Amino acid sequence: MSNKHNRRNFLKIVGAGGVATTAALYTPLAIGSASKKVVIIGGGMGGATAAKYMRMMDKSIEVTLITADKNYYTGFASNEVVSGERHMTSITFSYSGLRKHGVQVVVDTATSIDENKKVVRTANGKKFAYDRLIVSPGIDFRWETIDGYNAQVANTRIPHAWIAGSQTEMLHNQLHSMKDGGTVIIAAPPSPFRCPPGPYERAAQMAYYLKHNKPKSKILILDSKDRFSEFGLFTGGWKKHYGYGTDNSMIEWIPAYKGGAVEAVDVANMSVSGEFDEFKGDVINIIPAQKAGKIAFTAGLTDSSGWCPVQGNTFESTIHKNIHVIGDASIASPMPKSGYAANSEAKVCAAAIVALLSGNKIPDPSYVNTCYSVIAPGDGISVAMVYKYQNGKIVKVKGSGGLTPVEFNPKLREREVEYGHTWFNNITNDAFS
Ligand SMILES: Cc1cc2nc3c(=O)[nH]c(=O)nc-3n(C[C@H](O)[C@H](O)[C@H](O)COP(=O)(O)OP(=O)(O)OC[C@H]3O[C@@H](n4cnc5c(N)ncnc54)[C@H](O)[C@@H]3O)c2cc1C
Repeated sequence: MSNKHNRRNFLKIVGAGGVATTAALYTPLAIGSASKKVVIIGGGMGGATAAKYMRMMDKSIEVTLITADKNYYTGFASNEVVSGERHMTSITFSYSGLRKHGVQVVVDTATSIDENKKVVRTANGKKFAYDRLIVSPGIDFRWETIDGYNAQVANTRIPHAWIAGSQTEMLHNQLHSMKDGGTVIIAAPPSPFRCPPGPYERAAQMAYYLKHNKPKSKILILDSKDRFSEFGLFTGGWKKHYGYGTDNSMIEWIPAYKGGAVEAVDVANMSVSGEFDEFKGDVINIIPAQKAGKIAFTAGLTDSSGWCPVQGNTFESTIHKNIHVIGDASIASPMPKSGYAANSEAKVCAAAIVALLSGNKIPDPSYVNTCYSVIAPGDGISVAMVYKYQNGKIVKVKGSGGLTPVEFNPKLREREVEYGHTWFNNITNDAFS
C-alpha cells in the first residue's frame, strides 16, 4: 500500500504479526530464584523501555540501568519546544517510574565494557557485572565532516539540538531573540541519521513562529541530500502555510546537488559554506552527520559504517556475545532511527533476553514504527510501517503502514496532530511510568 493511509489495515497487521512477541512481553515468567543480572547502558527510549519491560516480564531478573543524566529529554516533540508551542518541562522525564518497577537506576557514565569478564566500568569508578548487557547510547556526531564545527561550538554558539536538552533551549532562545528580517540556517545531515523527518519538521515549526512574530524572516535549509523523508507532504505543507515555491516563501531548501551540503562553519562571521557558496545566518542550526554513541565505539561494537551490527531477532551484537545493541546505535534497517523504533526494538530485545536467560525459545518478533510531524497547529502528517523477522533479516510487512494522503484533508490533518500528541503521551508513559 504505497501512498494511502489505511490505519485499520495497519493495526490489523500489527495485531496479527505481534502475537508471538506480545504474549512473551506480558507473561511474567517464574524461573527459579537464581538472580540473573541484566545491565543496560543508556536510559533513553531504547534503554528505559527495555529496563521496564524486562522487569515486567521476569521479576527474578536484576535490572540495573546506567544512564548519564538524572532526567531524560525526548527528541520527539523537541521541535515544538524550539518554536515555543511546548515547554521544556513537557519533554522532561525522571526515572522514578522505573524505580517503582524495581529497576536499579544509576546516574553515571559507562566508560568501558569488558566482554570477557562481563563487567561494565563507569566514570565514577564503579563496576557492574552482567549476564547480558543492553547498550542503547543513542548517537554521537561526526564532527570531522564539517570544518570549524565541534562540541564546544555546538554548546556555546551554533547548536545542533539533535540530542534534546540545553541545546534545545538555546535554539529556542536564539530564534526568539532574532530580529525580524533575520535568516535562520538549518544544515540537514546525510543519511542515516536520527529521525529522518526531523529537520523538515523543525523548519516548519520555526516558520510557524516566524510567520506570526517576525514575518520578514527566512529559513534556509542546506541539505546534504537531494531528497528527504515525506518530501511531497512536507513541501506541500510548507507551500500551504509558508508560501514555499513562491517569491515570498519563508522556507528555501537547497539540495546537495545545488551545493547544499555544508562543508565548513565560520563562527566569528556566523556563516557556513558549501561546494559553491557561502551563506550568512543570524541563527545557525547545524545537524551534523551521525554515528553510534561513544561507548559503542569504545567497546568495539561498531563496524566500518559507524553503527552496530546486530541479529534482528535478539539485537545481540554480531561482534560481541552477550551484548545487545538497540535504538539509534544499532543497524536495524529498514527500520528508521526513531524513538518508536527504539521502543519496539527494546521490547523484542527484552523478550529475547528473558527467553535466553531461561533457556526458552526466542519469540518470533514483529516491530512497528510511526513518525508524526506537526507542520503547523492543526496540520500533522505521519509515516507508518510494520516489520517482521524473516530469513535472518528485518523486513517490511507487505501491505502495512503508509503515509498521510497528499490530497489535503483538513479533518484528517487535524486528527494527525491529535494522534501525534496522544502517541507522545502513550510512548513516554510506556517507557517511563
Ligand atoms: C528533533 C527530533 C525529533 C524527533 N522526533 C521523533 C518522532 O517524532 N518520533 C520518533 O519516534 N522519534 C523521534 N526522534 C528520534 C528519537 O528521539 C530517537 O530515535 C530515540 O531517542 C532513540 O533512542 P535511543 O535509546 O537509541 O537513544 P536516546 O533516546 O538518545 O537515549 C540514549 C541515552 O543514553 C545515555 N547515554 C549515552 N551514552 C551513555 C553512557 N556511556 N553511559 C550512560 N548513559 C549514556 C544518554 O544520556 C541518553 O539518555 C526525534 C529526534 C529529534 C532530535
